[in-house]
Amino acid sequence: MVATLDLLTETGRCVACGLCLPYCPTYHKTQSEADSPRGRILLTQAVLQGAIPLNERYMAHMDLCLTCRACERACPNHVEYGVIADGARAMIRTQRSASLAHKLAMILVASPKLLKVTGFGLRLANLLQLQKIIPRLPATPKQRRWEAIYPANKPRGEVSLFLGCASSVLDGDTLAASVYVLNRLGYTVHIPSTQTCCGGLHQQAGDSASDLDQRNQLAFAGNMPVLGIASGCGARLLDLMPDKFQDISAFLTKAEGWDDIVFTPLKAKIVVHEPCSLRNMLKSETSAYSLLKLIPQADVVSLPGNAQCCGGAGAYMLTQPAMAQKLRNDKIIQVQKTAPNYLATSNIGCNLHLADGDELKQVKIVHPVLLIAQQMGFTA
Ligand code: SF4
Ligand code: SF4
Repeated sequence: MVATLDLLTETGRCVACGLCLPYCPTYHKTQSEADSPRGRILLTQAVLQGAIPLNERYMAHMDLCLTCRACERACPNHVEYGVIADGARAMIRTQRSASLAHKLAMILVASPKLLKVTGFGLRLANLLQLQKIIPRLPATPKQRRWEAIYPANKPRGEVSLFLGCASSVLDGDTLAASVYVLNRLGYTVHIPSTQTCCGGLHQQAGDSASDLDQRNQLAFAGNMPVLGIASGCGARLLDLMPDKFQDISAFLTKAEGWDDIVFTPLKAKIVVHEPCSLRNMLKSETSAYSLLKLIPQADVVSLPGNAQCCGGAGAYMLTQPAMAQKLRNDKIIQVQKTAPNYLATSNIGCNLHLADGDELKQVKIVHPVLLIAQQMGFTA
């Protein structure tokens, strides 16, 4: 947790110029200064100074923030809004317990065994077609068991792969595709069984994730690059392992071995969605385009409005459903206007949020690495 004095110093770096306001999705929707980055920073400063109470109204404005950090990217004074938001949430957490949904999610993600059981449970529910009764139930692909090591034939390097809670249950295909692509390029892949949740949901709730951090530090000890497929988890892991962690697409664009790869052409329109975690935190949104452009005949274009968050934002889609839906609607309109065959996104949370409805039934929502792997011969 950030010390109160440090937090106050960081809020003091905001000169209230307002240049971040046009980039803030919640300000855009409510037109309320209190739902803008500048407003939230000044409110937090006032709470820290004791000028206003830490009450429900303050918490409501902080709760509505997506922590997309689009404001941070726009700020000419480099105010670290993410640090302020995390500190504010930890401060709020001393006054209010986490919601039941958050508590359940955190218990689940901290236990690999429980997660596995949930994955099999979801798969069973899908097989029984229970999503007709429970509409928000995600489609669950087959559950996989991971080996500790996937050796490349002629190794040119070694990497570790971070599985992630949601990805391991709901996006095992992209994880398997990542192993396939890395092996084909000559990279041996290690999957430490002691790795755990990235702690992103804990951070979002204002809780400490130091126990999870410690476990991941131990699981990924050594100098090997650590790769992740979900940019939401990646943003947290980059903070934890700044010298080692890389988004999978960013690593692959710089990797060697592509000269020997033959792709099956794909005559299709691929629209790229840029998750906020990939744009504003990992700052590697261009790598998905570079990868996808390797596919012959593919028409790879950017989704208009990529600078605005889709509303998924970790547990936000569950805790702030009204705003999450408004922001999702903006994305749906843009996807429908561009009419792609594929919508490529590098974050499982965004994928689930965008797919949560009937509007995009005709569009395949995939991770860029899964698409590229398929054109290299990978089958799930
Ligand atoms: S956060 Fe940055 S851009 Fe926004 S008002 Fe403060 S100084 Fe200006
Ligand atoms: S993190 Fe996103 S939602 Fe929160 S104040 Fe910044 S731009 Fe607005």
